[in-house]
Amino acid sequence: MAKFETQVVETDLLILGGGMAACGAAVEAAYWAKKNGLKVALVDKAAVDRSGAVAMGLSAINQYVGLRDGANSVKDYVDYVRNDLMGVTREDLVANIARHVDSSVHLFEKWGLPIWKDEKGAYVHEGRWQLMINGESYKVVVAEAAKNALLQDGVGQIFERIFIVGPLMDGDRCAGAIGFSVRENKIYVFKAKATLAAMGGAVHVFKPRSTGEGLGRAWYPPWNSGSSASFTLQAGAEMTCQEVRFIPVRFKDAYGPVGAWFLLFKSRATNAMGGDYMVERKAELDKWVPYGHVKPVPANLRNYLGMLDVMEGKGPLSMRTEEALQKIADQYKDDPKAYKKKAKELESEAWEDFLDMTISQAILWAATNVQPEERSSEIAAAEPYFIGSHSGASGAWVSGPPDLQTDETRSQYFWGYTNMSTVKGLFCAGDASGASSHKFSSGSHAEGRIAAKSAIKFIVENKAAPSVDQSVIDAKIAEILKPLETYEQHKAETTDPEINANYIKPRMFMFRLQKIMDEYAAGVTAQFKTNKAQLERALELLAFLREDSEKLGAASLHELMRAWENVHRLWQAEAHVRTILFRDETRWPGYYFRADKPQLDDKNWHVFANCRFDPKSGNWEMKARPILHVFPQPKEHELLGG
Ligand SMILES: Cc1cc2nc3c(=O)[nH]c(=O)nc-3n(C[C@H](O)[C@H](O)[C@H](O)COP(=O)(O)OP(=O)(O)OC[C@H]3O[C@@H](n4cnc5c(N)ncnc54)[C@H](O)[C@@H]3O)c2cc1C
Repeated sequence: MAKFETQVVETDLLILGGGMAACGAAVEAAYWAKKNGLKVALVDKAAVDRSGAVAMGLSAINQYVGLRDGANSVKDYVDYVRNDLMGVTREDLVANIARHVDSSVHLFEKWGLPIWKDEKGAYVHEGRWQLMINGESYKVVVAEAAKNALLQDGVGQIFERIFIVGPLMDGDRCAGAIGFSVRENKIYVFKAKATLAAMGGAVHVFKPRSTGEGLGRAWYPPWNSGSSASFTLQAGAEMTCQEVRFIPVRFKDAYGPVGAWFLLFKSRATNAMGGDYMVERKAELDKWVPYGHVKPVPANLRNYLGMLDVMEGKGPLSMRTEEALQKIADQYKDDPKAYKKKAKELESEAWEDFLDMTISQAILWAATNVQPEERSSEIAAAEPYFIGSHSGASGAWVSGPPDLQTDETRSQYFWGYTNMSTVKGLFCAGDASGASSHKFSSGSHAEGRIAAKSAIKFIVENKAAPSVDQSVIDAKIAEILKPLETYEQHKAETTDPEINANYIKPRMFMFRLQKIMDEYAAGVTAQFKTNKAQLERALELLAFLREDSEKLGAASLHELMRAWENVHRLWQAEAHVRTILFRDETRWPGYYFRADKPQLDDKNWHVFANCRFDPKSGNWEMKARPILHVFPQPKEHELLGG
């Protein structure tokens, strides 16, 4: 096997990831590090300019509260998030992000992001909380500010194309991370006083709808593979909401966004018979009260009503683009010139919505002769994803802000440093921190800033650097490189290197994981349904897969990354299955359905379902944590938007 050199980097704050949360963290950390004479290092598996979920750009900023205009209050946002998550939300965390998020958006604008404005100069809203942007370069704009902040004045270093495999620990304290370059034969050992995990969520844990020809195509960009979850789990951090996956309903096969269609163009979605499931199945919502009666209807319940149609053979579901555009243009029908102008404007907005963030959807429309003003387009529920910053909620259980605690919450939600996990020195933001859903791109940036400031405070107050035994580092290096060695040792034993009794290639490993999750843990094939027996079978099969992870074989650095990505996915999968099994009810139909426990059980399960992997014993612990309120709860008529 080729020789690998090792580079050791010693820093004060280590930021893992280069996405929205990490870029926010970089800006804030640079400011506080400079004041305190500290160093910061940021490590991304890709290139920060185009990494993470925002890589291709976005067409809307999904969280803007509008505090300076008095448009909404922080409590309004907390109410919205709690209802959308069927009551399961850390109000302190959501409020903390909500009170800071607008300033991140104002920074984006200052840095050059074009936000749509109306004739009076006010932001154009897609919905109550969403702002329309020309966002194809959103990530480049945000990354440039992060890079400038870190690299100017010599405060920080940026390491790109370094894949982080796992944490380094000094007893119970996080002491940094270890990984490898995906371009050269080099191991990186990062030693830090505080580490901030921001490596996104996870995709391809479940079998995607697109296999074979379309493999790799998914709603969630394929490069986030559960590294945040596996990192925090391996460090021994308590995790929360691991059962809350996200299933977006999107334009079928290219996953184009539907937000602009539903919110801006006020489109309907109908089934094959022309029926509107939101109208025809309204009575179903009564079964999921109080959340079923809330406005807007929680995302999972909207999904569920459509899924019921599909399960009854009434698919496909269609976005009625032609009807929506016609309705808007009709407002100008008495003025033929204005009508033509409006129709043209709507058509270009429809295409631009895709070109800003899901170019493949525009290509698919073009390739299949779709003209949205003439013909409706199919929509479908995607396979499950883990994205705690969007409409999911999975992530680490982190300490809340001190000033937002009540006497009751303080003992449960606060242990010293905002956004620190239960592991000393390990901070989390964006998809890496849980129970604070709906932060999206802007809120993840704001949370990165919050977490970085808190991590710097931790470093200032905990000056002694943790230490890691060299023998531990040597063992980790051997473990990381093992797939290369296994492949090298056995590759000549068969004529096709893909097939070998002594190793499993990462691709085949991923297929096996996806099959288990798809069939037993409520994937697309199982119509998003599962039960106790299926989940127990999934755990049995995942245990065999974990055994086989030691036999992963990699022919190149690229495949070595694929090998470790899939081990990370396995961690995410196991935490998910264990937590669905633990939560003995169905809370989020439309995301998953426990067929053996088909109802919401607010009496026993209005709690956080948390889990922890104990690195010493190798055992998992499951724990229910109370849901406590920071804000007065809204009255029913307020929930109904009245
Ligand atoms: C399809 C889609 C559409 C969306 N639409 C919108 C929208 O319209 N508006 C909106 O506001 N939000 C939207 N979001 C949400 C938004 O993109 C996320 O909330 C946000 O990107 C989360 O930030 P993050 O930093 O946690 O993760 P990301 O931004 O995804 O960043 C993760 C980072 O971690 C790095 N990384 C991963 N693994 C490793 C590893 N092992 N080692 C080193 N680095 C690693 C990645 O390269 C990346 O830099 C959308 C998300 C998706 C997936």
